[in-house]
Amino acid sequence: MRTVKVNLDKKISCSYEIRIGRDILDRIILLIAKDHKASRYVVITDDRVGGLYGKKFLGALKDIGLKASIIEFPAGEAAKNIKTVLDISAQLMETGADRETCLIALGGGVVGDMVGFTASIFMRSVPYIQIPTTLVAQVDSSIGGKTGVDLAFGKNLLGTFYQPRAVFANLSFLETLPEKEFNNGLAEIIKYAVIDDEKMFRQLEENMNVLKEREPKLLLNIVENCCQIKKSVVEIDEKEHGLRRILNFGHTLGHALEALSRFTVTHGEGVAMGMVAAARISEKTGYLKNSDTRRIETLIRKAGLPVKIPKSLDGEKIIARLKMDKKRKGDIIHFVLLKKIGMPFINGHIEHKLIADVIEEMKK
Ligand code: NAD
Repeated sequence: MRTVKVNLDKKISCSYEIRIGRDILDRIILLIAKDHKASRYVVITDDRVGGLYGKKFLGALKDIGLKASIIEFPAGEAAKNIKTVLDISAQLMETGADRETCLIALGGGVVGDMVGFTASIFMRSVPYIQIPTTLVAQVDSSIGGKTGVDLAFGKNLLGTFYQPRAVFANLSFLETLPEKEFNNGLAEIIKYAVIDDEKMFRQLEENMNVLKEREPKLLLNIVENCCQIKKSVVEIDEKEHGLRRILNFGHTLGHALEALSRFTVTHGEGVAMGMVAAARISEKTGYLKNSDTRRIETLIRKAGLPVKIPKSLDGEKIIARLKMDKKRKGDIIHFVLLKKIGMPFINGHIEHKLIADVIEEMKK
C-alpha cells in the first residue's frame, strides 16, 4: 500500500489581530484599506446597527476610494437562520461579489456569526472582518472563528470554524447599546473571570457599578483582558476538542433556557442562570465551596442579571433541551463545573436528577 499525504497542518496562516480602542473608526478604515485589500467590500449588518452606523461606515469606506456596498437584514436572533444566509448570498451575487470580495460584519454576535458562516461557504469561502458593536461581540463572539446559524431544533446547529482576517473593537459603539444588551456582555465578562481570572473577578466585585456606568478606562481594560483570555484558549484549542469547552461555562443550560423561552430570556440572562446552576451543581458534587457559589451569585446580581429561573419554564422540557445540545455525547450532558473561582473542569457524569433538582431550587 502506498500513501500520499496531503499536508495542510499550519500551512495556511490564519493568525490575525484584534484592535481595541475608542473613536478609532478612521483608523479602522485605513487599516482595512492597507492590510486587507479586496476587489470590493460588502458591509453586512442588521437594520438596527445599519440605521445607527451603516451610512457613516459605508461613507467612510467610499471616501477613501474603496468599492463598497451594504446589506441589511432584520435585527435579532430570530433572523439568525439559513434563510437569511440565502438572502444575503443572493444579494452578494446581485452586487457582483466574487472570491476577491471581503465581507465586513458590522454588528453584534448575530451579525458576526451569520456573516462568518456566509463567508465560509460563499463561493467556497471569501475573507471577512469582524467589527463588533455589542459588548458580547467585543469580548467574545467576534474572536475565535466560530460561525453559525440556528435551526428550529436549537441554536448554532449549522456552522463552521472559520477565522476572520481581523477584529476591530471600537468601544464608542457601546455608547448607544441598551442596558439589557450591555448586561448580556457583562455575563460573558463574569464567565471569563470565573473560569480563568480570580484577580479580574475581585476587580469586578469591587468595581461592578463603575463598569455598569461604562467608565472608559475600566471598560477598555476589561475588554482587552477578556480578549486575551479568549485568544489564549482559542490558540490552544481552535476547534473545541478540549480546553475551549471551558468557554461554555453556563452556556449549556443557558442555551436551553434561551430556546425554551423563545428568546424572551436573552443570551446573557440564560448564561447568568446557567452559571449559577453550574456553581450550585459544583457545590452539591463536593467540588466548590459554598462561599464561592455565593460570591458568583452576588456578582451576577450586582451586574443586574437574573439568578432565578422563570417558573414558567418546565423542568422536564429544560432537561429534554439539554439532551439536544450539540456538545452532549450520547445521553451524557457535559457540564463545565468549578473546583474554585479560576479553576474549571468538564464533568460528563452529572445525574439528570441533580440537574432537575437544581433547576427547581432556582425557581424558588
Ligand atoms: P445581537 O447581535 O442580536 O445584538 C443585540 C441587539 O443589539 C440587536 O438588536 C442589535 O441590533 C443591537 N445592537 C448591536 N449593536 C448596537 C449598538 N452599538 N447600539 C445599539 N444597538 C446595537 O446579540 P449579541 O448579544 O451581540 O450576540 C448574541 C449572539 O452571539 C447569539 O446568537 C450567540 O449565539 C452568539 N455568540 C456567538 C459566539 C461565538 O463564539 N461565535 C459567542 C457568544 C455568543
